[in-house]
Amino acid sequence: MIKKKFAIISTALSVILSAGLLAGCSQTKQTAKNESVKNEKKVVNIYTDRHYDTDEELYKLFTKDTGIKVNVVKGKSDELIERLKREGKDTQADVLITSDVGRLYRAKETGLLQSTKSTELINNIPEKFRDEDNQWFGLTKRARVIVYSKDRVKPENLSTYEDLTNEKWKGKVLVRSSTNVYNQSLLASFIEINSEEKAKEWAKGIVQNMARTPKGNDRDQAKAIVAGIGDVAIMNTYYLGKLLNSSDAEEVKVGKNVKIFFPNQSTTGTHVNISGAGLIKYAKNKENAVKFVEFLSGEKAQKQFAEANYEYPVNAKVEPSQLLKSWGDFKEQDVKLSKFAENNKKAVEIFNEVGWK
Ligand code: FE
Repeated sequence: MIKKKFAIISTALSVILSAGLLAGCSQTKQTAKNESVKNEKKVVNIYTDRHYDTDEELYKLFTKDTGIKVNVVKGKSDELIERLKREGKDTQADVLITSDVGRLYRAKETGLLQSTKSTELINNIPEKFRDEDNQWFGLTKRARVIVYSKDRVKPENLSTYEDLTNEKWKGKVLVRSSTNVYNQSLLASFIEINSEEKAKEWAKGIVQNMARTPKGNDRDQAKAIVAGIGDVAIMNTYYLGKLLNSSDAEEVKVGKNVKIFFPNQSTTGTHVNISGAGLIKYAKNKENAVKFVEFLSGEKAQKQFAEANYEYPVNAKVEPSQLLKSWGDFKEQDVKLSKFAENNKKAVEIFNEVGWK
């Protein structure tokens, strides 16, 4: 009997309570919703070493699509990595973007990144171009090729990177400084494919054939060809696209007077690096960060990378632009991209030893 009475009271109580809770709840819910709208940061903060204006367009497109604002900190990749180390848990960065896979790998090794599970990223990016633990993702491919003078060089005289060390190219080879990561990754790939000894021989041979002490960026090498300083240059392909589409008539002229040759087609393939993004371990806006990287790997952004910055899309569903197609298909080097980073130190040592400035 007492038990029954208690049960009735308790039921009545729980009805009253839950009614009260419900009323209160809807109020709480409303407040929470308001607060979350207020507090939810519709932003993603990126650290990037990419130096291309076209990236800004991509960020604008992302904001338009998602309402998420993109804050950008630009800097050299090594500096950004040092900064991330220093900032640790307090960092404001959500995503690190670099124009060389070696730096992404280094960021991962240093414990600056975290993994993410995203079927979209896995579907969009071939396995070869993303980290095995899903901490970084390749977004564009860049081929490092031989660019040659249209007037003075016959393409049938070109063949491999190794051939550029031949006596016939003495005083004719143009290439930028060895402090540049594109060259470091190129040599790192040779260490992997051909051996350390052969890589050193190659670097030594190039130094012997240089048209001048290395200076300037990739574009400056093409300009030096047209100025008659040398005949062949080692360059990334997209810079030719940039020259051809430049607002500066002189640059367009340079672009029109040089051509691209994909080396090592019947041997080890042309060197391909990637530009990509890693998710910062202490990202405060992780969800937005993942959305951002997904967006960059999607068809719209991949098209833009190809059309506006002349880079090769990593997403196989997206075709390269007309200009890139006009350069033709080519066989890529078959090297695990992490080797570029693993062999980086050795590459730098070799460059110093052989006197590649
Ligand atoms: Fe570049």
